[in-house]
Amino acid sequence: MATYKNSYINENEYSRPRTKLAALKGIVLHYTANPGASATNHKTYFGNGAGGRYAGAHIFVDEKEALCIVPLDEICYHANENKCKIDKLKGHIGSYYGDANCTTIGIEMCINKAGKIEESTFNRTVDIVAELCKKYKLTVDDLCRHYDVTGKNCPAPWVSNPAEWTRFKNAVKAKSNPIIKVSSIVEAPSYYKSGTGLYRIKKNCYAYKGVNFSDESNRMELCQKGTKYTIVGIVKYSSSYRLKTKSGLYITANKEYVEKV
Ligand SMILES: [Zn+2]
Repeated sequence: MATYKNSYINENEYSRPRTKLAALKGIVLHYTANPGASATNHKTYFGNGAGGRYAGAHIFVDEKEALCIVPLDEICYHANENKCKIDKLKGHIGSYYGDANCTTIGIEMCINKAGKIEESTFNRTVDIVAELCKKYKLTVDDLCRHYDVTGKNCPAPWVSNPAEWTRFKNAVKAKSNPIIKVSSIVEAPSYYKSGTGLYRIKKNCYAYKGVNFSDESNRMELCQKGTKYTIVGIVKYSSSYRLKTKSGLYITANKEYVEKV
């Protein structure tokens, strides 16, 4: 299920100039600074030309929904006060030196009447950002607050309390790479009680950079029959076990495929 709904505003000079991004290098998180106003309220405002100010963002998230009001490959005026502090986000499109505006997606979190980011808004934003990271091959290192880009006090609740920003990034990370529960050897199937050490591949299989083998983008290399791997850990993922290799990749612990040497 999509985490947000596309509901684009019409072209207008101030909030949807229909200029393509120069490149996509990151995602910038904002808050609306507008207590009690919903995603729909903001769509209406920016759709009507933002009061003649160059402003806007791609996605607006509130307690109930998230609206993508500008296609993600177009620029929005959301993160440039002519002082981009993050080198990799510097960019321009022709004569427009918009820095992060030219290289990022902007996401605005709505706030409640008390000025707080509701937990449901927080969680919905986590889901959206995790989905976009996967889609555009970005990692949590490519996420930043508006504050990190230009020093602006945005999202204010995450500037005054940076632990919330850390909590957000951890939540995105957990969604992108399912949490690896490192089990003790005792929890592993009896035939792996022998634990870590040298294992031989009995049948061709693959090594993955994550424990989720159904995600093909995790697949890194073919493990040919007869090859030996030094296993430094055994981890449980859902109801299966994975062997962690010395180089940090994961291979199956299924005894049809591997055996302890
Ligand atoms: Zn902002």
